[in-house]
Amino acid sequence: MAEPVSAPAVLLDQDGIQQVVKRLADELSARYDDGLVLVAVLRGSVPFLADLVRAMSIRTTVDFVALSPYAPGTGRVRLVMDAATSVEGRDVVIVEDIVDTGLTAAFLLSELGRRNPKSVSLCTLVDRPARRIVPVDLDFVGLEVEDHFVIGYGLDFDGRYRNLQVLATADPATLANDPDAYLSLYGA
Ligand code: 5GP
Repeated sequence: MAEPVSAPAVLLDQDGIQQVVKRLADELSARYDDGLVLVAVLRGSVPFLADLVRAMSIRTTVDFVALSPYAPGTGRVRLVMDAATSVEGRDVVIVEDIVDTGLTAAFLLSELGRRNPKSVSLCTLVDRPARRIVPVDLDFVGLEVEDHFVIGYGLDFDGRYRNLQVLATADPATLANDPDAYLSLYGA
């Protein structure tokens, strides 16, 4: 008999996402009225970045970094693709999909901080403080969530669900059993 699918919960629908993005874009535009370098972390932050940058009313440069996924327990993160833009003397904001353990955020804040930017801070769509290993200052937060796995709007499971229009919680055990268990969210 098939395992029952644990029901997903929509955290943000399309309107909710756009409201959060607009608020963050306004906060960033007000704080950095002299321009900004946005450094987005591939690949989960791409939909968020695309909406965020278009909702901003200041001069921005967009660049990307990619990191190696860390092996659980090691806490080691490595740059596999660096940004091409020089951040020296510039205000920089790292754009993340979700800050979970904080390892990615802490690594990037330190790495970009060594390049003599005017300032470096962090903007994340989702903050999940429950599993934090490294404390990080999050300057711009879209939504704080409880200890749930999150999919949609860039966030994936095994490469799936990045193009969902909503942000939803999903049960990791259900996904491990059937990675397509939440396909119904495409109609949400
Ligand atoms: P960190 O643990 O370093 O804060 O987060 C590393 C990365 O793990 C995030 O950028 C994200 O790609 C992935 N991640 C962490 N939590 C979740 C989650 O709930 N859902 C998904 N889809 N990815 C997550």
